[in-house]
Amino acid sequence: MPLIVHKYGGTSMGSTERIRNVAKRVAKWARAGHQMVVVPSAMSGETNRLLALAKELAPPKQTDALCRELDMLAATGEQASSALLAIALQAEGMESVSYAGWQVPILTNSAYTKARIESIDDRKIRGDLAEGKIVIVTGFQGVDDDGHITTLGRGGSDTSAVAVAAAMQADECLIYTDVDGVYTTDPRVVPEARRLATVSFEEMLEMASLGSKVLQIRSVEFAGKYRVPLRVLSSFTPWDIDIQEEARSGTLITFEEDEKMERAVVSGIAFNRDEAKISILGVPDRPGIAYNILGAVADANIEVDVIIQNISKDGKTDFSFTVHRNEYARTMDVLKTKVLPALGTDRLEGDTRICKVSIVGIGMRSHVGIASKMFRALSEEGINIQMISTSEIKTSVVIDEKYMELAVRALHRAFDLEQPSS
Ligand code: ADP
Ligand code: ASP
Ligand code: MG
Repeated sequence: MPLIVHKYGGTSMGSTERIRNVAKRVAKWARAGHQMVVVPSAMSGETNRLLALAKELAPPKQTDALCRELDMLAATGEQASSALLAIALQAEGMESVSYAGWQVPILTNSAYTKARIESIDDRKIRGDLAEGKIVIVTGFQGVDDDGHITTLGRGGSDTSAVAVAAAMQADECLIYTDVDGVYTTDPRVVPEARRLATVSFEEMLEMASLGSKVLQIRSVEFAGKYRVPLRVLSSFTPWDIDIQEEARSGTLITFEEDEKMERAVVSGIAFNRDEAKISILGVPDRPGIAYNILGAVADANIEVDVIIQNISKDGKTDFSFTVHRNEYARTMDVLKTKVLPALGTDRLEGDTRICKVSIVGIGMRSHVGIASKMFRALSEEGINIQMISTSEIKTSVVIDEKYMELAVRALHRAFDLEQPSS
């Protein structure tokens, strides 16, 4: 009997009516002869609501002890939605049981609010499936070696689902969400965006890491590592649509490149507003400076993304980099206390009103002039580029956040990604 994992996002679980629909859809799959494991997110808005309550009460400093409690709190959202789904399935006449991450257990490291899954014990799930039950496993959460509840970072239910699918060697993992697949860019920003029938694993990895929230990056990494067949599709189709049609809908993440090579050079545009830019001006231009600055930042466990160093003038240079916006204040603090005194400069500038816009496509490997086409499209809109970073299959620019939507639309047009007009 094929084993299928379904994941339902927050909007798909957003009301009792929607949960009932999810239950009907899952029951249809089970009745069609599949073993079913379902991974739900919290009902939409619930994680935000819980974290907002915590924010009202929290001390100013983000400590490990605080993060532990944030996880303890946020994990309740998925526990509630999972139990509700099991109840709705029972009302459909199906045998169903739900488990919190710690009950499975899904073992993670102890990095509260951004934990990584280390292993999944699938024995309980297999036992229930063998008894004909539909098994619900909470998304977003796990437990560390000492029994503390952890969460996997925002959007982490995608990763739970793919990890469960990998552990169970599922035949397919279907990610049901509020759009009907992966688009050339966020269809909420560019209504003309086109759904991709397939997207290569590498492109999906880049798009997710560059800000396309449709899949959490770690879920794509898991899918690649364990070759989990992965599809993104809509939970808003009628639950009783033909199951074969449903199984072919949405976007399939492919691991074969050949068929794709002939396609568009640029497959998608990603963007995010999650970063902040920091510049240190008038830094002595000598060996070891980048290490002095970024070493201290890394020691504070802060990830750095785009980095640029200007050419030197009179033995001095300017050094800029971006970090996650949540880490902005902490990074400034580290620089002021640990780095600037040793560098002999106090010229530190920060900008939290930036965004990063990226073009992604495996065709970029074999084509030249793609970056310049990107820069031309931006210049025609009068958008100033502050930083650039490239890799084999993507080019990213950092720009003023107020031009983000304009830039995404201009690039979408420039690379002919719009819906072909009929
Ligand atoms: P869920 O709650 O189901 O996990 P998310 O909100 O996390 O849903 O992800 C789905 C959203 O991702 C869509 O509503 C869409 O606005 C956004 N999105 C961003 N980039 C893309 C893209 N390239 N294709 C499809 N959706 C995208
Ligand atoms: N509920 C969590 C969040 O809102 C996890 C998820 O939805 O994937 O981030
Ligand atoms: Mg999500």
